[in-house]
Amino acid sequence: MAGPPSRRAVVSSGPMPVTSYSRAADRLRVAQIISTTAAEGPGQRFAIWVQGCPLRCRGCCNPEMLPWRGGRWLAVPELARRVVGTPGISGVTLLGGEPAAQAAACASLLRRVRGAGLSTMVFTGYRVDELEAAGDPALAALLGGTDLLIDGRYERSAPDGERPLIGSRNQTPHVLGAAGGPLLTALIGGARRLELRLGRGGLLLSGCPDAVDRLLQPGEGAP
Ligand code: SF4
Repeated sequence: MAGPPSRRAVVSSGPMPVTSYSRAADRLRVAQIISTTAAEGPGQRFAIWVQGCPLRCRGCCNPEMLPWRGGRWLAVPELARRVVGTPGISGVTLLGGEPAAQAAACASLLRRVRGAGLSTMVFTGYRVDELEAAGDPALAALLGGTDLLIDGRYERSAPDGERPLIGSRNQTPHVLGAAGGPLLTALIGGARRLELRLGRGGLLLSGCPDAVDRLLQPGEGAP
């Protein structure tokens, strides 16, 4: 006779359901924007950090962007016009926060900027199979509007010290659109960059997560 099921047998390793904070397609809750940066992907890019992430990776370098409340709502058509009208950029990068938690708005934004000939790059804490398994048209549109997707939770115990902009070794680039291949080649062959900006809100750091992490380590002080 079979005994009771082992504890291991009832643990599921399947995809995690994707949590949506907003299903609106016409407005996006945004934490931060840098309109021209060389630190968030190949070339000069318009970087948008969305506000709110339902995941809680240990060592997340943007903890202030995790709560849903915070940042501010921006109208997607106006934001898209601002991206397209920014001189000298080759594309847009979405980070967070979690773009998949506002999939409809992110998809609408990507569709508009890609329609103007710009490339699109998205960082998500979900794995691509989790996004696909959700069977959500908004998530499908988000993937459909993305040229290069970097997926996976940030795992502090497995830092990636080699690939620019990729925080941990489990995170994987996926070429999803026509511009994705050249973007990936340029990303992997490029330098690991860290940008520091002094703005009205104080010092703003962007670029390689481990570099930011190391910079924020407490010093040893005077000998
Ligand atoms: S998915 Fe990204 S933003 Fe969300 S908790 Fe993890 S590292 Fe932070």
